Amino acid sequence: MGTPDAPLSADILRASTIGPLDDVDPGGTPGFDGGKSAGKAIRKARGKILADLQEKLYAGGRIDDRRSVLLVLQGMDTAGKGGIVRHVMGMVDPQGVSHSSFGKPTDTELAHHFLWRIRNKVPAAGQIGVFDRSHYEDVLVVRVHDLVPQDVWESRYGTIVDFERELVATGTTVVKVMLHISRDEQRDRLARRLHRPDKYWKYNPGDVDEREFWSSYRTAYQAVLDRTDIDEAPWYVVPADHKWYARLAVTELLIGALSAMDLDWPDPDFDIEVEKKRLAAS
Ligand code: AMP
Ligand code: MG
Repeated sequence: MGTPDAPLSADILRASTIGPLDDVDPGGTPGFDGGKSAGKAIRKARGKILADLQEKLYAGGRIDDRRSVLLVLQGMDTAGKGGIVRHVMGMVDPQGVSHSSFGKPTDTELAHHFLWRIRNKVPAAGQIGVFDRSHYEDVLVVRVHDLVPQDVWESRYGTIVDFERELVATGTTVVKVMLHISRDEQRDRLARRLHRPDKYWKYNPGDVDEREFWSSYRTAYQAVLDRTDIDEAPWYVVPADHKWYARLAVTELLIGALSAMDLDWPDPDFDIEVEKKRLAAS
């Protein structure tokens, strides 16, 4: 059996084409009509293609290719950001992945511009950077809880778009993913965390309080999609009530982004024939 063809196309997940979030079923599996076991099997097979592309990116970065990839992961608590990191990024060489998570800012971070801590973590040449939460928190949790005045968070959408355009112009391919879960699925996932000793550590009582703000978060996410889904740095809305689907979809988004970079193995900076002879004679 050869490598499987792309099971779904990125276009159908693009924020600007799917209509309002309220109309997107978090339990859907757009573009894929198989079930869980088929989806898992295809993701694993496609993982080999992803790993090959990632190795080319990494190899180029070791020689003279300055390009990189940034995957931004956003979503409500329990949406599955950590699972994407384990199950999608886990399929590629960890040397080529830089993972950053952004929690509540420290005092030092708060003393700087909101992009300061983000700029410090943008991926180096050859790396796939993964942001588990990101600069978007500064127009999500910050907007929902009025952590800064409205004119301040309002101005950030434009600042973010300018920042991402600058990243792209300097060789970083930006892919933004919103993991879209339902409120009921979140309750089930939080409940599981309370029923399994191996999951207690993931439970945060504050997550229950945040559930009260579900519709404010929905409004804030919609504003993000409406105002920051640019062709240079597109947003994709990935239905995430089925973890297997979300992982398959993100695998495909990364394969698509890396394929579009036209990566190739770097040329040697030595003479192959000369080296073969030298080695044989050694
Ligand atoms: P977790 O991802 O579960 O570790 O939670 C991280 C927490 O940090 C979430 O509740 C986020 O909303 C919060 N957080 C992340 N960025 C910011 C920010 N810029 N301002 C305030 N809270 C933030
Ligand atoms: Mg959490």
